[in-house]
Amino acid sequence: MSRLIKAIRGFRDIPAEEAYILRHVEDRTREHFELFGYREIRLPIVEATELFARGIGESTDIVEKEMYTFQDRNGASITLRPEGTASAVRAYLEGGWKAQGGIAKIFYTGPMFRYERPQKGRYRQFYQIGLEAIGGEGPLVDAEVLDLLYRLFVRLGVEDVRILVNSLGCVECRPSYRDALTGFLGKVAGALCSNCVRRIQSNPLRVLDCKVPSCREALRGAPAVLDYLCKACDAHFTRVRQTLKELEVPFEVDHGIVRGLDYYNRTAFEAVCERLGAQNAVAAGGRYDGLAREIGGDTPGIGFAIGLERLALIIERGGLRLPVPHFFVAAATGSARVPAQALADRIRGMGLIVETDLEDRSLKAQLRSADRAGATRVIILGDEELGSGQLQVKDFSTGEQRAVDSKVFLAALEKETMPPVKGAVP
Ligand code: ATP
Ligand code: MG
Repeated sequence: MSRLIKAIRGFRDIPAEEAYILRHVEDRTREHFELFGYREIRLPIVEATELFARGIGESTDIVEKEMYTFQDRNGASITLRPEGTASAVRAYLEGGWKAQGGIAKIFYTGPMFRYERPQKGRYRQFYQIGLEAIGGEGPLVDAEVLDLLYRLFVRLGVEDVRILVNSLGCVECRPSYRDALTGFLGKVAGALCSNCVRRIQSNPLRVLDCKVPSCREALRGAPAVLDYLCKACDAHFTRVRQTLKELEVPFEVDHGIVRGLDYYNRTAFEAVCERLGAQNAVAAGGRYDGLAREIGGDTPGIGFAIGLERLALIIERGGLRLPVPHFFVAAATGSARVPAQALADRIRGMGLIVETDLEDRSLKAQLRSADRAGATRVIILGDEELGSGQLQVKDFSTGEQRAVDSKVFLAALEKETMPPVKGAVP
């Protein structure tokens, strides 16, 4: 036998139980986004590297060290998408969606790829569902996006997520804040981690986001961006907060929230849940009015992305479990094998999950595997039943077994599983 081939480090297989929960979370989130008029689009998984290397700004974590970049057969540099926002804005510009007028309200879901150090809650391939409102610049857009995010957690039964918001200012007011922050960081540089020391020049705002405890400590007296907002940014942020209050959306202003990417401006936010441990952000987003200009257009936008694995960890799972077969159809004799499969097909036609034996096993072995599969009822078919038009139905929960007329049984089952007729009076 040859050596067992394994998955690449940081990439993992998602077993059925977890895939089922991820699907549930994704489906509920989709439905929720659609209630606000957002529509799903599909985006490519690979893009030209320059979309991220230019679009994201040269000095972000993603560009510096996290991108999966390859050369294709023609020598072109391509990158597995590390996030969806740049692609969404590219699609908006390339597709001329501006012509449709108004705000483009879109969302997408799928795998993202980042060359990060794998650890709990952090993978090299992970799943996001992202939402973008492209084309609107007013504070009401920001407030609706945050309202939508908050109500998603409510809908999923998550009560302990906190929404943290901040304003990053704009091209007018950020430079003076950046100067003040760089000055402060220079003074405390000795207490910062090596990543942060490097970021003092390249990306000082990102230092505020460092999770290293000694950095957090050193940053205590750091100047707050909110004290440097220009009049327009201040008015925008005030209106966002006021609207959220009126909509009864709980939030906290946290001037440590930054996006680290130069094109982000004004409203920035994160949703955090302490149950997630060190990687506590379940969603992050913000306004990116400068992004389109970096990729050949000009249009404001705001959006966020949710980490689906992390969301799946914190939702109220209730009775959420992989579906089990409604029936197992067992064949007691060789001649009943194919009729058992035909019967299974008939019941599957009613939308029920049915399994059969495909390995010519004894009746006893079939009953065992039915039980193991979690089937609640077994139908047993043998020569006698085939002759008399009957079925043996065994209920695992009560242990009871009885003979029933096949036609009567199927008719009753059909009635049970029939979808209600639309408009019928109950
Ligand atoms: P972090 O500070 O945790 O690195 P980020 O700022 O890189 O997060 P975003 O790019 O804003 O995160 O992505 C949004 C969400 O995607 C995060 O809040 C998180 O839930 C999820 N996420 C990001 N990177 C990973 C990863 N490597 N593995 C799993 N989930 C991730
Ligand atoms: Mg990251």
